[in-house]
Amino acid sequence: MDKTSSVSIHEGKPIRCKAALCRKAGEALVIEEIQVDPPQAYEVRIKILCTSLCHTDVAFWKLEWGPLARFPRILGHEAVGVVESIGELVDGFKQGDVVLPVFHPHCEECRDCKSPKSNWCSRFCDDFVSNTRRYGMASRFKDFSGEDIYHFFFVSSFSEYTVVDIAHLVNISPEIPVDKAALLSCCVSTGVGAAWKVANVEEGSTVAIFGLGAVGLAVAEGARLRGAAKIIGVDLNPDKFEIGKRFGITDFVNPALSGEKKISQVIKEMTEGGVDYSFECIGLTSSMEEAFNSTRTGSGKTVILGKEKQMLPISLGSHDLLRGRTICGTLFGGLKPKLDIPILVDSYLKKELNLNGFITHELSFEEINKAFDLLVKGETIRCVLWMDK
Ligand code: NAD
Ligand code: ZN
Repeated sequence: MDKTSSVSIHEGKPIRCKAALCRKAGEALVIEEIQVDPPQAYEVRIKILCTSLCHTDVAFWKLEWGPLARFPRILGHEAVGVVESIGELVDGFKQGDVVLPVFHPHCEECRDCKSPKSNWCSRFCDDFVSNTRRYGMASRFKDFSGEDIYHFFFVSSFSEYTVVDIAHLVNISPEIPVDKAALLSCCVSTGVGAAWKVANVEEGSTVAIFGLGAVGLAVAEGARLRGAAKIIGVDLNPDKFEIGKRFGITDFVNPALSGEKKISQVIKEMTEGGVDYSFECIGLTSSMEEAFNSTRTGSGKTVILGKEKQMLPISLGSHDLLRGRTICGTLFGGLKPKLDIPILVDSYLKKELNLNGFITHELSFEEINKAFDLLVKGETIRCVLWMDK
């Protein structure tokens, strides 16, 4: 595929193209012709090359109520694209660049972006309801009747073209195959980053991962790269053990087969008192609590990655906290997109980071509903949708 075949004759003008619209919660997406407006200041219009489906897309597709349930909407946030045109005041991006859109912002200028302590961007992170980063509810998409279409997580990659703020865009080396690169736009970065930046897993340590979807498997890959000695995968799907072995999973627990025993009890018995690190990659309060209870008294650390749809609270033993165990959550694996994604690309190109095995299905963009079906049924890890196939 010619990555630089972007159409520049549209520069400064709207583009008409195909997008998969979510018109109603849980209903099949509809491929429609839409209008994508030109990028404004600090924005870039990109041609999507390929996009994949993450569980977060499924969660928002199903979301029926609340301020985040919006329709019609263009979902999708794991993707790779090529720059078609740039708005005013855009530095560092030019037509033809291969770019990753990322749902997590990185303005590079605020106090938190300048601090190495976290990947929180205090300038932008608190607003996750706007359509466009700097223009509030202004949308760059219109349907056939001229009605505005809602964006999703500042990316909206289920469209042939999308407009992304430069705070959500990373330039990457064109050497990495684009489908592999798409994994770094969300799931793999989130999982690997959680093991690397958030937990800082060290050599010889023990790890438990609740949920072995792409995010959980990426945590395993991150823990494997950090030299963890034992990596226990917890999943209801027994096939995930064989799959997980490729990413460093050494042991497997199926909650459906543990009888009366709590998973935390099983894990404590397997590790003589609990794991050094546990990660929740499902999005259930019960498994967040079990992940916390699985760690070692005194030093155990739990990292929450799963998104609990209703933002419900979790319940932890206050004495367990007093006795030294810690818990935290993370978005995008604690990675600062513009700094850390190029490091992961490099690691892949040096044959350290393993990106094989995540993509289990490839379909054309028109078959997007099939991809939803596969993920909902747990039959795929990642399904890549090609825009030009
Ligand atoms: P996925 O659907 O591909 O994987 C989930 C896995 O959990 C599956 O293997 C499933 O069999 C297993 N599972 C489900 N219920 C279970 C249970 N009760 N006990 C044990 N295993 C169970 O999802 P994914 O795309 O890997 O995403 C995982 C989670 O991470 C989602 O909640 C998603 O929203 C979230 N996420 C968070 C971030 C972040 O920045 N924190 C980024 C991406 C995704
Ligand atoms: Zn910032």
